[in-house]
Amino acid sequence: MNFRIDLHMHTNSSDGAYSAVELLHLAKEMNLNVISITDHDNVNAISEAIELGNQLDIEVIPGLELSTDIEDKEVHLLGYFIDIENEELQKYLSFFREERLYRAKRMIKKLNSLNIDINIDDVLSEANNSAIGRPHIASALLRHGFVNDYYDAFHRYLRDNGPAYERKIHISPQSALKLISDAGGLSFIAHPGHLKESVLMNLINAGVDGIEVIHPSHNDFQVKFYRGIVNQYCLLESGGSDFHGGNKGDYDNLGKYLLNEARLDAMKKMLHSKTA
Ligand code: AMP
Ligand code: FE
Ligand code: FE
Ligand code: ZN
Repeated sequence: MNFRIDLHMHTNSSDGAYSAVELLHLAKEMNLNVISITDHDNVNAISEAIELGNQLDIEVIPGLELSTDIEDKEVHLLGYFIDIENEELQKYLSFFREERLYRAKRMIKKLNSLNIDINIDDVLSEANNSAIGRPHIASALLRHGFVNDYYDAFHRYLRDNGPAYERKIHISPQSALKLISDAGGLSFIAHPGHLKESVLMNLINAGVDGIEVIHPSHNDFQVKFYRGIVNQYCLLESGGSDFHGGNKGDYDNLGKYLLNEARLDAMKKMLHSKTA
């Protein structure tokens, strides 16, 4: 059998539209055999997903997406096979979620000063106790009729350095890599299509385990290019749809960005060799 593997998905524990249960049922409909839930700064959806995955015969790999900062650019790192109970990890994640809340409040202040009458409860009601981010503010703006659609909210207010933008606190790439590996996981550079090669090299030198080669933001040339780098530096390859659902309108991506089974096997081999 040909396994259908998607290692990049979000739930409403971060900025996805669906709960773990809903996402697992969607995955089943798409005939996915292996998925990873990779919420931003949050692992709360994972145990429920693993449990239901067992019933639906879907392997759920514990995952996570962290935001780091290199040369003033935001770089996302994915962690796979992490121990979600790891204490250091838990400590970091609650710190970052708290910081995200303060940051959302600062962004709302900026919106208020632009005569947009929105408050933190409007945003929290979009967020389902999750790691609060710009997508939740965008949804609140949309719901209250301040923008024409989800992307309009970014274009007008929330985009990087936009009128209501506030930076997040970022963990350094070195600390993020250590956090992931200390929690027993493998680290990957997420959707590197927008990164300079020097940043990529910086992370490879810092000991990242692999690169997300397959991603909706990558064209065929980029897929080949990153696969070439993976092979050249003996790294691992990952990939997935980065599915969020809801306002993002990325339903078409589901089931289309699949990782080759041999690549997943290579990840597992690496994991065993690290723990052996
Ligand atoms: P945050 O982590 O709160 O800064 O939110 C980052 C998320 O916002 C990204 O993962 C995207 O989903 C979304 N995002 C950022 N910039 C844009 C943009 N210009 N257009 C649409 N979505 C965006
Ligand atoms: Fe996201
Ligand atoms: Fe990302
Ligand atoms: Zn993502």
